[in-house]
Amino acid sequence: MINILDLSIEELKEKLEQLNIKPFRAKQIYDACFQYKDYDEVSNISKAEKEILKQNFNLLPVSIYKVQESKDGTIKFALKCNDNSIIESVLMSYKYGYTICVSTQVGCRMGCSFCASTRNGLIRNLLASEIIGQILCVNKYLSNSTNERKITNVVLMGCGEPLDNYENLTCFLNLVTNKDYIAISERNISISTCGIVPNIKKLADDGYKINLTISLHAPNDEIRKQLMKVANAYSIKEILDACDYYFEKTHRRVYFEYTMCKGVNDSEDNAKELAKLLKGRVAHVNIIALNAVKEANLETVNKKDAYKFCEILTSAGLSASVRRTLGADIDGACGQLRNKILDETGNK
Ligand code: SAH
Repeated sequence: MINILDLSIEELKEKLEQLNIKPFRAKQIYDACFQYKDYDEVSNISKAEKEILKQNFNLLPVSIYKVQESKDGTIKFALKCNDNSIIESVLMSYKYGYTICVSTQVGCRMGCSFCASTRNGLIRNLLASEIIGQILCVNKYLSNSTNERKITNVVLMGCGEPLDNYENLTCFLNLVTNKDYIAISERNISISTCGIVPNIKKLADDGYKINLTISLHAPNDEIRKQLMKVANAYSIKEILDACDYYFEKTHRRVYFEYTMCKGVNDSEDNAKELAKLLKGRVAHVNIIALNAVKEANLETVNKKDAYKFCEILTSAGLSASVRRTLGADIDGACGQLRNKILDETGNK
């Protein structure tokens, strides 16, 4: 069965005509999807037509499976797709509103050694409807609670590698920025990638101007290869060249993520080498203490060491900060909640 939001409105009109339903219904159906309404909540379509529609299309691409609220206000959602796949989204509360972190794949095939999402490899790509569905579903959850504020920012940093699912990613971007619907501005959307070089360039060539974050995690290729399999495919030099290209085309500042793992990439020399590598760039480095997950045999660093590392970067003239960890008490790291549910339900 097709999720409506995987069809453009024109494609939907064509399908409706084949089913003898007037094409003007397409807009009403699209509206319902964006309001996260299921058939029983739609009042402007006749019962008979709804019956036909129900047999062919899903309005809701995902539904809530489990919600975990953290003491710090972060909420982690396990959502269920229509094929029963479980995916994760994380909602973070800031002064200006909510940021949601969405998943782009069920599982991941990138094989980063510190990441829980990649434990069982890639199961499948998420459809564009399932990526936007996470935002629509959580928005509805918020509007049902007493909270007035809504999601204003989106980060593509959940499970999966967004640039390994390029077509659905770009369909999603077209949907989420569409002025007629939730209309989130490209300035408020960030993508995080382990560095799939050709698709970083393609994103810029295709005219998207979202914020780009590179999961760098190492000052040189040798250390990067210890942590990330993808480092065997693309060198840091190639990634930085792609970042320059992206910046030239989009004028968006590039961000770098640096997850500190004890004894691997956390020394003062590593910080100095990183400072040298990134010197002169319009960039910001986010330093994160590894969220030690049971899936990986790596240790985290203490906050003091993270701040010391950061200090070396800022003293060298770089823009850098230590990211505060949100949701550590609710399996906050990528893929942790999904794995827990798979374990609990005996599904490996
Ligand atoms: N595949 C994308 C996006 C998903 S991961 C990417 O690689 O960027 C989002 C970020 O969280 C990445 O920077 C990733 O390296 C980091 N991450 C994953 N697991 C982590 C963990 N256990 N502790 C700290 N950071 C982690």
